[in-house]
Amino acid sequence: MKGTMCGLVKESAAPGKFVYHTDLPIPQINDDEVLIKIHCTAVCGTDLHIMDWDKWSQARIKPPLIPGHETAGDIVEVGKDVRDRKVGDRVSCETHIPCNRCWFCKNGLPHICKDVKLFGVTENGAFAEYAKIRADSTFLLDDDISYETACLFEPMGAGVHGAESAEVAGKTVLVSGCGPIGLTAISASKTFGAKLVIACDLVDERLETAREMGADVVLNSGKCNLVEEIQKLTDGIGVDAAIDITGAEPAISASLRCVRAAGRLVCVGLPTKNVTLDLTNDLIYREVEMTGVSGRKIWDTWTDFETVMKGPYYKLDKVIGRRFALKEFDKALEAIQSGVPGKMILYPWKEPLEV
Ligand SMILES: [Zn+2]
Ligand SMILES: [Zn+2]
Repeated sequence: MKGTMCGLVKESAAPGKFVYHTDLPIPQINDDEVLIKIHCTAVCGTDLHIMDWDKWSQARIKPPLIPGHETAGDIVEVGKDVRDRKVGDRVSCETHIPCNRCWFCKNGLPHICKDVKLFGVTENGAFAEYAKIRADSTFLLDDDISYETACLFEPMGAGVHGAESAEVAGKTVLVSGCGPIGLTAISASKTFGAKLVIACDLVDERLETAREMGADVVLNSGKCNLVEEIQKLTDGIGVDAAIDITGAEPAISASLRCVRAAGRLVCVGLPTKNVTLDLTNDLIYREVEMTGVSGRKIWDTWTDFETVMKGPYYKLDKVIGRRFALKEFDKALEAIQSGVPGKMILYPWKEPLEV
């Protein structure tokens, strides 16, 4: 497709906001790619890191870049080698674009591919009217899934993957951190049959939402001794599994101590610096397992999120914050910085601020 489009651009290798352009070329697709007319794209913490130009961004991004990776839209063009996608298909996108050649890809682990490319990070993404991506990195949407729900598959998938890695069925589970991904981990844990889900956070409002999305017990870890409370709730044993969404050292350390001996701690949240833990006493002597999850499993987590989303615990309106036109990105940023809960959704084709 020829022509120009609007979009946001990270212009240089330095801290700085994305700049709105109206004359970007529409991406030209390769034979194995599709062109997507973007319906909406959610803002991710990663986008904020890209603006801040932290070490993670410096190691991966070569500006100019169109960021944005949590998206949904309609396929408007397919490359000539693409067999199983067609014009008009509604899709969402997997951020991890695997090489399909390395040992990990060949052994069923493409989400931790050694040579993974990242949509909206190493490749141009979806804060624009159109985006291109390899066809096998798109996920076909059922008719009853809204675009807004669909653009949340990618971020929420990390929460679903966390609950899966914690093997929550029949278990007592602690979810630490009740932002949108934590809320998803909570509703996923309930959907997958956890016996007791305890949620903790520092903000009471977020804990109320956690309760509405399935948490059986909520604890404000800033106002109680979390480890002691967990002991009381579990007959002095500790939880079978804990899922950390915060990435914050004090929270990870507390979660590790909340897990029972021979239990499991799953880390989902990304610490921005090295973390110190008492491995001798909290992990080794107690034979605790500690593991991480990197985004979603391809495509297991996606289909499992459909189950969670259509189940009794998941509440989309609790996970979405506000909606903005793409050109009003700064207002979305202000909302995030002022602590408005939930994901901010950007619409490239809408002129005014909607909600
Ligand atoms: Zn993201
Ligand atoms: Zn690979």
